[in-house]
Formats: sequence, C-alpha cells, structure tokens
Amino acid sequence: KVDDEAFVTLTTNDPYGYGALVLGQSLRDVGTTRQLVVMVTKEVSQPMRRQLSLIYDVIQQVDPFDSQDAAHLAMLTRPELGITFTKVHCWTLKQYKKCVFIDADCLVLQNVDDLFERDEFSAAPDVGWPDIFNSGVFVFCPSEETYQGILQCAVTQGSFDGGDQGLLNTYFSNWSTLDIKYHLPFIYNMTSAVSYSYRPALERFGQGIKIVHFIGTAKPWLYTYYPNTNCLSPPEGCGNGHDLKYVKKWWDIFLANIRPNIE
Ligand code: UDP
Ligand code: MN
Repeated sequence: KVDDEAFVTLTTNDPYGYGALVLGQSLRDVGTTRQLVVMVTKEVSQPMRRQLSLIYDVIQQVDPFDSQDAAHLAMLTRPELGITFTKVHCWTLKQYKKCVFIDADCLVLQNVDDLFERDEFSAAPDVGWPDIFNSGVFVFCPSEETYQGILQCAVTQGSFDGGDQGLLNTYFSNWSTLDIKYHLPFIYNMTSAVSYSYRPALERFGQGIKIVHFIGTAKPWLYTYYPNTNCLSPPEGCGNGHDLKYVKKWWDIFLANIRPNIE
C-alpha cells in the first residue's frame, strides 16, 4: 500500500457528501492502492462524516473559502460555486508527496492509479474552452509555497469565472502550452452532458472512459429514482441532463453500497 499518495475530494455540505460517498466507493471498486482523503467543512453533518469514514482513510476538516465574487459567478449562472475556492486547501495536505484531486460529482469506471505517474500540474481540457483545463480532475503536489502562491493569486487577480477553475487556470496559466504531457486524455475527465453532443466519438471511445464527471446543475443525487420501474428522471429546470447510462451506474453504487448503511 502506497502511503504518500492519495486521491482527494471535497464536500462542503451533505448533498455533495453523497457524491463523495459514491466517488470513494467507485475508487474502492476499481481496486486503487492509494489513500482516499475527503476534505470537509464544518457544515457536513456527523452522520455524513460517519458514512464517509466507512470509505475514506482520512477525513480532513478545512475552513470554507469563498471567492465573494457574485458578479462573475452570476455571469456563469452558478452563484453557489464561490465555495469551490475551498478546493485549494488540497495543497496543504503535506503528509502526501503527490495527489490526484477528483470532484465529488465524478464517478470512476476503471482504475486510474496510473495518474500518479504524471506530474503537477496535469489536467484535461475543458470542453467549453479547450485552451483552459477543467478543474474537476487534476494531478498536484501538496506544497506550502504553491498554496500561498494560489492564495496570493486569488487576492491579486481573483477568478475569471468566480470559481476554482478560473483561479487555478490563472495560476497555472501556461498549462496549455508548457508540454503536452500535462494534458490528461479526455477519458480521465469525461464531462458527460457535453460529450452527449458528440455521439460518434462516444461510440468510438466510450469503452475507454475511466472517469465520468457530471458537470452542471443536474447532479446524479438530484435525479429521482423510481424503484418499481428502475427509471431515473433528471431534476426539473436543469437544461440538458447527463447520459442516463452513467447516472444509472452512479445509482447502482449508491443503492448497493451506500444506502444500506444509511437506513
Ligand atoms: N463543492 C462543494 N460544495 C458545493 C459546491 C461544490 O463541496 O456547494 C465541491 C465539490 O467537490 C464539487 C466541486 O466543489 O464537485 C466543484 O463544484 P461542481 O462539481 O458543482 O462544479 P462543476 O463541475 O459543475 O463545474
Ligand atoms: Mn464537478
């Protein structure tokens, strides 16, 4: 067992906690040999922490950060994302040499331990603007110096989208041109709502998908599951939902491994 490398995620509340539970279980299911760490803020309830402790090796309490940047977040129509600044605490996990951060709204389908062969800062392109990276999956090395640098960047330059993605893309602004080795293949961060618009590629490469990322407002835990018919319906007013095949996989893990412990 490798002790100085870890997968890291974040939840600042109980709903995202369900995401973290399924993500953690999905990493266990593919047989990872790395530590699992979940960062939580004080808003996460005791019962949720107990559930998380059944799957994660370490529950790390951190202080919430907020970008306080209502204008940019409104432009993105996601006022809740300021809290995602809390993510940068991951650079303070100094007990680890190298980590892979994964958003709580991701699901791992195949073993991704090979990501630890990559260096900081590696990430996959964002489908909305491919010259920047999507901050849902990235390889990083905890470091006080980098942490302070990102905080400094937050204060002096802020975030161009009000969330962690704008901030991290400002700090690691040479990501797209530095070296192709820092570009993770799309199968490590398949942003499912959008790829939906490119069916043929999904047909061609879908078998290789390792991590599905449920970006946007239609999070898997917000879908309604009908046990009698085994059907799922997306939350109302969420625009385009995700490929139901992957939402179903999320729910399969939730129903088989998570919910039995809750009831
Ligand atoms: N997050 C959280 N609480 C929130 C919003 C976000 O803990 O209220 C964390 C969580 O790990 C989430 C990540 O920040 O996966 C990024 O937010 P989100 O996934 O909602 O953004 P998107 O991927 O849709 O752009
Ligand atoms: Mn996400």
